[in-house]
Amino acid sequence: MATPSALVLKCESCGKEVPHRVLRGRVGGKGEIVFEGVVKCSACGFMRSVVTREAKPIEVPMVLSWMDRSTRTTIEMGPTERVAVGDAIPLSEGRAVVTALDSKGRRVQESLASDIDTIWAKRADKVWVSFSVNMGNRTVARRVLAAPDEEFVVGDIVDLGRDRVVVHRIRIAHRTLREGSVPAADIVRAYGRVVRERTSR
Ligand SMILES: [Zn+2]
Repeated sequence: MATPSALVLKCESCGKEVPHRVLRGRVGGKGEIVFEGVVKCSACGFMRSVVTREAKPIEVPMVLSWMDRSTRTTIEMGPTERVAVGDAIPLSEGRAVVTALDSKGRRVQESLASDIDTIWAKRADKVWVSFSVNMGNRTVARRVLAAPDEEFVVGDIVDLGRDRVVVHRIRIAHRTLREGSVPAADIVRAYGRVVRERTSR
C-alpha cells in the first residue's frame, strides 16, 4: 500500500487540525490500515512521530433497481459510516437513493455500514412521469422518462412517443396545480390532452 504524502491531523504543538506532511513512514496492517511515521505540521512546522489507524473499507451488498429491473452489486464504505433511508449514494454514473435498509436481519431506517445486510436503492438519474391523456373519446395512461429536476409546466406541450400532449394540470403530493411548474420528481400524475401537430393558423 502506498504511503500518503500528507495526513490531516491535530497538531500536538499548535493544536490546529491541518495537513501534516509525511517526512517518512510506512503503511501496514491487516484488519485496519496502520500508518507509522514522522510528520510535520503545515501550520507551525512542529515535527513528531505518529501511529494512525483507520478501518479498512468494506463491501456492502446493494440491490439497485431502475425501471423494472434490479441488479445485485456492492458498494465500498467505511465500516463506521452511517447510512439512512433517503440518503443519496454516488454511483460511477449518476446516483442512487436508499429506499430501504436491512441490518442484522431487520428492516431499519438507519444503520452503521458494518451492520448492513443489504442496501435497497433505486437509481435517481431518471424518473418516470405518469400521464393521463385525454384522447377525445377516451383517456389513456402514458409515461415518460425525465431527469428528476426537469420542470414540467402547465400549458406546455410534451412528446409522449407518438402523441403530443398539452399539460393542463399536474397532481403533486397534496394538491393539484392548474398553473406553474414542478420538477419531474415531485409529480404524482400529469393530465393532458392530445394535440394535433398541424394547427391551422
Ligand atoms: Zn502545529
